[in-house]
Amino acid sequence: MFIEPEYDVIVVGAGPSGTSTAITAARLGLNVLVLEKQQQVGMFKRCAEGFAWGLIESLELKLPRKCWTQEIDGSYIYAPNMKEFLIDMGKTSGYVLERRVFDKWLAEEAVKAGARLIADVNVYDVIKDKGFIKGVKANFLGEDYEVKSKVVVAADGVESLVGRKAGFPLINNPVLMDSGFQYEMAGIELKDPHKLEFYLGTKVAPRGYLWVFPKGENKANVGIGIIGNSPETAKKYLDDFITKHDRFSRGSVLEVNAGAIPVGGLMKNMVMNGLILVGDAAHQVYPIHGGGIGEAITAGNMAGKVIWHCIEKGDWSEERLGDYNKLWWDKRGNALAKSEKVRETIEKMSDEQLNMLAASITKDDLMKIVDGNVAILTKTLLKFGAKNLQKKIFG
Ligand SMILES: Cc1cc2nc3c(=O)[nH]c(=O)nc-3n(C[C@H](O)[C@H](O)[C@H](O)COP(=O)(O)OP(=O)(O)OC[C@H]3O[C@@H](n4cnc5c(N)ncnc54)[C@H](O)[C@@H]3O)c2cc1C
Repeated sequence: MFIEPEYDVIVVGAGPSGTSTAITAARLGLNVLVLEKQQQVGMFKRCAEGFAWGLIESLELKLPRKCWTQEIDGSYIYAPNMKEFLIDMGKTSGYVLERRVFDKWLAEEAVKAGARLIADVNVYDVIKDKGFIKGVKANFLGEDYEVKSKVVVAADGVESLVGRKAGFPLINNPVLMDSGFQYEMAGIELKDPHKLEFYLGTKVAPRGYLWVFPKGENKANVGIGIIGNSPETAKKYLDDFITKHDRFSRGSVLEVNAGAIPVGGLMKNMVMNGLILVGDAAHQVYPIHGGGIGEAITAGNMAGKVIWHCIEKGDWSEERLGDYNKLWWDKRGNALAKSEKVRETIEKMSDEQLNMLAASITKDDLMKIVDGNVAILTKTLLKFGAKNLQKKIFG
């Protein structure tokens, strides 16, 4: 009843990458179907909900007030020895979202743009024909459907069943994947409800960091991301931290969230005949901090434009859809690859070296390093005498 037999574009997944692709493609006049397996768009959050100011602008949209719970104007970063490093932006630089509301709002924007979106549809396979992906097989409320399209968009997150069914390999190297675990907590004490808190160190969060992202005066996402092959679980590290800190240990747990974060494994090729991968499905996450919402929106917007162009020209082969590879690598991929290098450098540092880095670095240099500036990191390492480390990493 709801689903037509054929569309220009089928987007699998109504996360930010899928709905952004749908918004752009539908605005350009394509007939777009978005299929989401959850009963409600945005129902299961796998996210700390941090979102930098302006990331929605590529879609020419303004973030409505209902989508965020807290304005953020800076961060406290803690070295392994708990030395505090304050970055005060002096003005709103980001938000902690309410993903449930945000994802649903983006979904409604896709519908406003002309896309059709159906929740509670599980896509379980792709249709292959003569070397092309030509649609999907899906189940909607117990009924099986085969829906055809010119282009299928795999926006189905880090596990990407659609990508795998089409023939892309799943990341199987745990070093390229962070394991994330989080409690949304209430009744806790925050240092400052307008500042994010980050805790570093091999004993606190091996390779990654532990975060406190405020969602009000006494409420926050308290979570952790650690290297995927850690012998101890992310939950264990988070529980240890919470137990040691009274301001959290007396709090309540409103939600438990867990998920994998692809902090590496950027893909040179993200397309095949009739198929395009976006967002977490294409590992488009910022490797240093694991932020993927903004990347998903940027990539979705690019994918929507490229798909429209290909359909206009009547050619959605891998070669033509490959324009998306070029565009994304030019605008985002190279920056993310640099940031991956920085992450690889930082993860080789001992707690002592991290303490030295925290003691000697300026706010400006730290911001540049987070932006993927390897040269500044090298300079800083040399400054505090970590010559061996610098040599080991850069030769
Ligand atoms: C613990 C944790 C904390 C994070 N914190 C942050 C943060 O603070 N800031 C930030 O920017 N990023 C964060 N991220 C990353 C961010 O959540 C993702 O990068 C982002 O959600 C990617 O968007 P997406 O649309 O590609 O995928 P998703 O948001 O995962 O959306 C994929 C959608 O596809 C649907 N789907 C999957 N399979 C099927 C199927 N077979 N049929 C139909 N639908 C399907 C899913 O239900 C889902 O709705 C975090 C991730 C984790 C795990």
